[in-house]
Amino acid sequence: MKRLLAIAVAATAMLANAQTFPGSKPISIVVPFAAGGPTDLVARQLGEAMRKAMGGSANFVVENAAGAGGTIGATKVARAAPDGHTLLLFHIGMASTPALYKKIAYKPLEDFEFLGMVNEVPMTLIGKPQLPANTYRDFENYIRANAGKLNIAHAGLGSASHLCSLMWQSAVKAKEAMTTIPYGGTGPAMNALLGGQVDLMCDQTTNTTGQIESGRVKAFAVTTAKPLSKHKLLKDYPTLQEMGLKDFELTIWHALYAPKGTPPAVLKQINEGLKMALKDPDFIKKQEALGALVVTDGRLEPAAHKAFVAAEMAKLKPVIEAAGQFAD
Ligand code: ASP
Repeated sequence: MKRLLAIAVAATAMLANAQTFPGSKPISIVVPFAAGGPTDLVARQLGEAMRKAMGGSANFVVENAAGAGGTIGATKVARAAPDGHTLLLFHIGMASTPALYKKIAYKPLEDFEFLGMVNEVPMTLIGKPQLPANTYRDFENYIRANAGKLNIAHAGLGSASHLCSLMWQSAVKAKEAMTTIPYGGTGPAMNALLGGQVDLMCDQTTNTTGQIESGRVKAFAVTTAKPLSKHKLLKDYPTLQEMGLKDFELTIWHALYAPKGTPPAVLKQINEGLKMALKDPDFIKKQEALGALVVTDGRLEPAAHKAFVAAEMAKLKPVIEAAGQFAD
């Protein structure tokens, strides 16, 4: 009897929550990386597009919870109140961190509600402008000639830039040639590159396009399987496959999550807001200018989003094991 009563009370609370959601309380999008990086940028653009899509009634704020390759922010959201006011925008790290870390505090497929995919983003291999190399070939030769002297920045163990640097260093067999330096996100890592404290980085085009265009960093290659022939700037850079790194392919994706147990009606409202936001021409244009492609396919549905993450986890595990380096 007591149990039935508890279920009834919980159901009434859930219904009330769904009817009043979002109310006046802001919806926080937790970005598990530092401000000024690609995930942060996507979250800010998405928050604005979702606010418009939800009739201006929802007030989105971005909260940066950086550290440990995104796992600190993801843990925070897994443990947050499941009321729709705390969401997580995470990238491929949702699927790669279980293989990159020996232990993480959440289970990607069990501790979250899946709200839908947002975008897909290529990565670029970039270096500080002072590097003497101008082409990928020269760059590789330079790295070999300077074994032990160079630093490569990334956004923390388990981050996408870490994954890319692992895969690339293992493909070119240049692991011993450089020291990896972790940051809380590629925002601060980019600052270190611009300041010349580090030599290179592999990062999402969301963060690098503007810097490449203004000549503040040098780009050497893109990480997609096919050249980015439609992009006015990035079309000029070869793929790593074209440069002889057989089967090299890395595309980063972002997606939105809520803590497990968020009421279904609230999830539906957020998912609808997300779907509408992704049709916003202004959002699409801004993303495309940064080399990112807004998702338009079935992965906007929670079940397909979850199946995609599960497939990515299975795909990345052997790739990460082959690259052969793990975080604690
Ligand atoms: N680009 C970062 C990464 O390497 C994350 C970020 O700062 O958005 O995972």
